[in-house]
Amino acid sequence: MTAWRDTIHNLRQRDCYLCHQPLHPLDDFCCETCINWCRPLPHCQRCGLLAAGNPTQCGRCLSEPPLWQQLTAISHYAFPLDRLVAQFKQHQPGLAKPLAQWLAAKIDSPAELLLPVPMHWRRRLERGYNQSDLLAHELGKQLRIPVARHWLKRTQHTAPQQTLARKARLSNVKTAFMANAPPQPLPRHVAIVDDIVTTGTTVATLCKLLSKQKIERIDIYCLCRTPPPK
Ligand SMILES: [Zn+2]
Ligand SMILES: [Zn+2]
Repeated sequence: MTAWRDTIHNLRQRDCYLCHQPLHPLDDFCCETCINWCRPLPHCQRCGLLAAGNPTQCGRCLSEPPLWQQLTAISHYAFPLDRLVAQFKQHQPGLAKPLAQWLAAKIDSPAELLLPVPMHWRRRLERGYNQSDLLAHELGKQLRIPVARHWLKRTQHTAPQQTLARKARLSNVKTAFMANAPPQPLPRHVAIVDDIVTTGTTVATLCKLLSKQKIERIDIYCLCRTPPPK
């Protein structure tokens, strides 16, 4: 009996993705210490940027309201979440499932439909997968909501946003997307799914395309929120 239990234990023995210490059988993919490191700091519920007291809207959002209602992220782009997200984007598509589970637990009133940020087919070919698409797929399974893959489309192969300065980011994505005919019946509440939101230019461009439809509410679901570069 003991041997049998040892075998099961060994089969289930996995290491934490971040610190590589053995995981407790109940832990999913990160140990409790690492999960605790990823606790978000107080932030604005709308734009996701740091703000004391977790306000529904911060001063920036009041003076210049974003085109979305709420942004939900696991945490900020800081150690150790930054490493995990980098692994997911570069070579570990399998991380989509645990990351989606983690994110799903933070979503209070899920949208009716998920819209992954589209990737140009050339980049998809280079990378082998669209991380936002994988994330939306797993999130959809967790929250039991459908994913719309063909509503939004990327028509231009642009430079990665992270490599550009703010001004260049704006012109980089302005004309990079288009919207196909919306699904019918039109959902009232949708969420755009992205891996990292930095300046918010990409998601804002997509919100603008969606705003031509009578959608009541657009939310953003992302793995992490990072402040825009100065
Ligand atoms: Zn750990
Ligand atoms: Zn805000």
